[in-house]
Amino acid sequence: MFNPQIVARRLNKFTVNIQAKKQKKLELKIEKEIRFNVEYQPNLIVKCPKCGFDNPMRAKTCFNCGFKLNF
Ligand SMILES: [Zn+2]
Repeated sequence: MFNPQIVARRLNKFTVNIQAKKQKKLELKIEKEIRFNVEYQPNLIVKCPKCGFDNPMRAKTCFNCGFKLNF
């Protein structure tokens, strides 16, 4: 029998999974880009003044804490 509560719960779970996957994908992308910059263009790394995280030079905000980076 159709139980809307269970369906809703399953849909929620599904949505959460998709969000987690998207988040993971984004994190991997950022990590890859940072690693690329560190290995091949170490001079293009900008250290976040707030948290010390190594960001790609063209990053407008810190990938770690969101601090606005100046060029
Ligand atoms: Zn930061």
